[in-house]
Amino acid sequence: MTTLTSYVCGAWHEGQGTPRPLFNPATGEELAGADSTGIDFAKVVAHARDVGGPALREVGFATRAQWLKALSGALHEQREELVDLAKSNGGNTRGDAKFDIDGATGTLAAYASFGKRLPDTNHLPDGDGIQLGRTPRYWGQHIKVPRLGVAVHINAFNFPAWGAAEKMACSLLAGVPVIEKPGTPSALVAWRMAQIVVESGILPEGSFQFICGSVGDLLDHLGPQDCLAFTGSSGTAAKLKGHDCFTQRNTRINIEADSLNSAILGPKTDDDSEVFTMFLSQIATDMTQKAGQKCTAIRRILVPEDRVEEVREGLVDRLSATKVGDPADSDNRMGPVASESQLKDVRAGIDAIAAVSDTALGGSDPIADTGCFVAPTLLVAKDANSDIIHSDEVFGPCATILPYSGDAKDAIALTNRGGGGLVASVYSNDKKWATEVTLGIAPWHGRVCLGSDKVASLAMPPGMVLPQMVHGGPGRAGGGEELGGLRGLDFYMQRTAIQGDQAVLTREFGAPTDTSVSD
Ligand code: NAP
Repeated sequence: MTTLTSYVCGAWHEGQGTPRPLFNPATGEELAGADSTGIDFAKVVAHARDVGGPALREVGFATRAQWLKALSGALHEQREELVDLAKSNGGNTRGDAKFDIDGATGTLAAYASFGKRLPDTNHLPDGDGIQLGRTPRYWGQHIKVPRLGVAVHINAFNFPAWGAAEKMACSLLAGVPVIEKPGTPSALVAWRMAQIVVESGILPEGSFQFICGSVGDLLDHLGPQDCLAFTGSSGTAAKLKGHDCFTQRNTRINIEADSLNSAILGPKTDDDSEVFTMFLSQIATDMTQKAGQKCTAIRRILVPEDRVEEVREGLVDRLSATKVGDPADSDNRMGPVASESQLKDVRAGIDAIAAVSDTALGGSDPIADTGCFVAPTLLVAKDANSDIIHSDEVFGPCATILPYSGDAKDAIALTNRGGGGLVASVYSNDKKWATEVTLGIAPWHGRVCLGSDKVASLAMPPGMVLPQMVHGGPGRAGGGEELGGLRGLDFYMQRTAIQGDQAVLTREFGAPTDTSVSD
């Protein structure tokens, strides 16, 4: 059995306590153990701040972008090994594993490309310069500089590769060293990635450290220049937010948490067969990919009352064709959920929503003698306003149809009952209706995808997070924001307003020039 180690202060550390076991959720086989006992977290933080940070900032954005490109390449070279680990430890089918691992290398490559257009300095102008005095001589310019602390990245179990890479890409490009902690149940992939990163020698010492197991008292050592980027459940987020480092020392925190993402079908127009097919196929993909364990997966399906039957039939057809089983068999299209505790939570969640719904397909009953398998489950709400449908996240292959009037205002009200979401998707060829819904739900969502006949053959499913677009959402989704191209660097940088002689600001800070002022 493999013992997963942590990489801290320039060396691999083996835990001195009892390791927490990691399993193959399809077979129940114990694969590895993770334990971080014995790590001196004060030293880990100091190593990042004193060794990693200065080394990263000895170069500028453009050089760090080249490092990201090299990291993407190094990880891609080991793609098949990482895919196999994700299949055994995470319950991923080959397709699920590629989604995670290619998402990781793709995001690193995307940030390499964003960064190569930046100067090789450690400050960036933020917006245009502003005349502040009677003449342009007295000038203002906002700039952004890397913060001088460490970025702690705590990730959820469902995307061990992509979750780590999307945070690392922004942090390292900004010039801030990383302490990465993956979700333990699926940590084998993250651990192997950490080995590849360290062995590649691409990053300067101290800029990347890796904790496998508990983070112990790490947060006690964080201060005003440090930050925590957290991805996980809203329950864990709520616990972390109360820590002194946030309430007393103003450590920055970004939270990516749960979300009850909606797919909203509009009233029937003359011929909307393409967008209707798009709607059905995107829901089926989102529900079954990674066995529904995606923070962006569709959980609530809003359907005009007169279209409920055709949606129910269309989805039951698609979902029942999904072969569920051990990802080791390439015929299987959906694997198990990631762990026994997930299985228990998912079953309980299905039962709670099924109590106020009709079950169109699946349910919480076991579908195999061993393994953490759940049937794709489609429920139809008896009352679309039942509280539980708008409060409980079932983190598995389950979604609920909510019949509604077809009126844009009703769609907005129901969707926003989720209390803040990562993404919602709106399917209609009626531009006026779709615009009204989009503007009505935008304040409560980080991203809105518009499906129509025109984009049916082009669009990615809403569950796919793209490095160019922001990821995050208000309210229960955590109130955070990541990615979004170079916006993703902002969390790791300080915005500072500089006021003074325009000639100096222009020369020293790269601010735009007003030609009337010179030395
Ligand atoms: P979780 O139980 O909240 O755990 C998330 C991470 O926090 C794990 O690394 C976990 O470590 C760590 N953790 C737990 N308690 C902690 C504590 N007291 N101090 C420091 N770290 C702690 O969530 P999960 O079960 O891994 O992930 C599923 C949830 O994440 C779902 O609700 C899903 O919606 C959400 N999610 C959101 C996004 C997004 O971008 N918004 C993306 C993916 C997932 P251990 O594993 O070692 O306990």
